[in-house]
Amino acid sequence: MKFNSLLIHGGVDGDEFTGAVNIPIYQTSTYKQETLGVTKGYEYSRTGNPTRDALEKLIAQLEGGIRGFAFASGLAGITAVLTLFKAGDRVLISDNLYGGTFRVLDKIFSNFDIKYSIIDTSELEQVKDNIKEDVKAIFIETPTNPLADITDIKKVSNIAKEKGILTIVDNTFMTPYFQRPITLGADIVIHSGTKYLGGHSDLVAGLVVVNDEAIGEKLHFIQNSTGGVLGPFDSFLLIRGIKTVGVRMDRHNNNAIKIALFLQKREEVEKVYYPGLIDHPSHEVHKAQASGFGGMVSFVIKKEYDYKKFLESLKIITLAESLGGVESLICHPASMTHAAIPKELRDKVGISDNLVRLSVGIEDVSDIEEDLINAFNFK
Ligand SMILES: *Cc1c(COP(=O)(O)O)cnc(C)c1O
Repeated sequence: MKFNSLLIHGGVDGDEFTGAVNIPIYQTSTYKQETLGVTKGYEYSRTGNPTRDALEKLIAQLEGGIRGFAFASGLAGITAVLTLFKAGDRVLISDNLYGGTFRVLDKIFSNFDIKYSIIDTSELEQVKDNIKEDVKAIFIETPTNPLADITDIKKVSNIAKEKGILTIVDNTFMTPYFQRPITLGADIVIHSGTKYLGGHSDLVAGLVVVNDEAIGEKLHFIQNSTGGVLGPFDSFLLIRGIKTVGVRMDRHNNNAIKIALFLQKREEVEKVYYPGLIDHPSHEVHKAQASGFGGMVSFVIKKEYDYKKFLESLKIITLAESLGGVESLICHPASMTHAAIPKELRDKVGISDNLVRLSVGIEDVSDIEEDLINAFNFK
């Protein structure tokens, strides 16, 4: 089956017991044993639930991996993956990745002596030089959040393989519709299902896909032991969202290209970060590993304009955390999504107070543009 068909028919296609076209919401915590120890494959819903199973099979297939796991949030998935490591281990991370990923490493895993080093993963020499004895994995986002830095997944995975360490990719911004890191050599793919895969800003979920039986076994053990599983109703919603991710991503992508070009021409805007722009420094690297550019556009408003007033003057575009929903959302990374990153580090990597991040929705692009024009003119 081709990819767009897999979005609809992948995983578990309907319900074998009733013929229901959609996988039902198996709202149950436990399962009857016919005789002692004999089950129909399910014992308890933390360990396994048919609705969650259908989602886990679906995401594994879409990412080209062998096993998928659904968690109560993206961060629950990230946390589960990080517990693959033990005291004394170190993880290399991209220098402007999701604030919550940084926070859980900096404030929680550090208590258990799991360390991290921040590097620019788009610089292959930096990656090579930093893989010391204690480094067990490299954790990347590409494009990064919010500055759209690009890392060459194939090249980094090759370096990691040579050194015997894992490559973990947070693929939230691209979705498997545009980018499939496992097919490029990555070992583990993570999603915040809250974003594009869910797509409607109505659920919080996380997904993890692995490409190795042994890591899959370990992760299932961790998922069952630590318990941050996704419930059946949210599993159902996420399956429903995934069915339309292709058509939504195409619209997000087309709208975002137009908005990025529009912003580049505005005198109020100093710089636009979007991998689809031809003058993006890694435009070609991105194009070689992904089939689209996504819907996330970040831009810097010139100092002489009041970014606060701009944000507060928008009418259609909503000032809110999160991204990837059908509606356009805008945020101020320095005070919202990336507030957990110390100001010193934010300034160093370019997450300035004048930076805003726009999740371009699937509305008519002329309405989004008009809203931006009105807010700029409000000054
Ligand atoms: C939102 C997000 C997360 C965290 O996911 P939650 O579902 O909010 O826990 C992780 N990575 C990226 C890139 C995100 O955008």
